[in-house]
Amino acid sequence: MENISSESIAARLYAIEERINNAAERALRNPDDISLVAVSKTFPPEIIDEGIRAGISILGESKIQEAMAKHEQCSSADWHFIGRLQRNKIRHALSIFSAIHSVDSLQLMESIARVQDETGQRPQLFLQVNVSGEASKTGFSPEGARETLTNFPRLISELNIVGLMTIPPWAPEAEASRPYFRTLRELRDSISSELEIDLPELSMGMSGDFEVAIEEGATFVRIGSAIFGKRSSWKPQRTPDSDDYF
Ligand SMILES: *Cc1c(COP(=O)(O)O)cnc(C)c1O
Repeated sequence: MENISSESIAARLYAIEERINNAAERALRNPDDISLVAVSKTFPPEIIDEGIRAGISILGESKIQEAMAKHEQCSSADWHFIGRLQRNKIRHALSIFSAIHSVDSLQLMESIARVQDETGQRPQLFLQVNVSGEASKTGFSPEGARETLTNFPRLISELNIVGLMTIPPWAPEAEASRPYFRTLRELRDSISSELEIDLPELSMGMSGDFEVAIEEGATFVRIGSAIFGKRSSWKPQRTPDSDDYF
């Protein structure tokens, strides 16, 4: 793993916050409406704590076991789950995560509703939408998300569904992500007006394309490597052919 000093995490975080603010201003948006999820997957508790000392308030993790192990060693922060959630791990997930950005099926929604009933927790949920239709990615199709919310009004009242999330196809150019971000926003707009429900949040944008996402309406950006550096080599890296995180 690359060695990154606390100073450079603080410096990187500051630079990212500047870029978030500038992108918001370009889009005539209030920077306060955009939350940064610092994606700390693969990084150890010491590094995460340096990030928290530097001002990070929301952490993003994609593996339940890894997150549980780190959670108890880190200073306090808000933990958001961004990975694929297996139904038998929901109970663990709800014990440390206040939000789940990656709700990708009706079955998962049903199971979260059941666990919530027992535990009394009610995390913020984002429906993950596979806008590109890539076979390697999980999530609702855009029409699937619309139909699910239309056909299961009970889940809308039981669950705290705050918005939608997407991950565009890998591309070297940030601009390539724009149509996917725009489609997600338009889908959110049309679902919320059709069903008269509030879906204020859009979780979209990563290290390579968060400014474009903000221009297209992101309210949560999920940024890992631009803050913490390159992920350790034992995890598959994000390349055109390996969709490690999903
Ligand atoms: C890893 C991951 C990120 C962060 O990716 P970076 O390119 O390092 O910013 C964001 N979202 C999800 C779902 C991830 O798995």
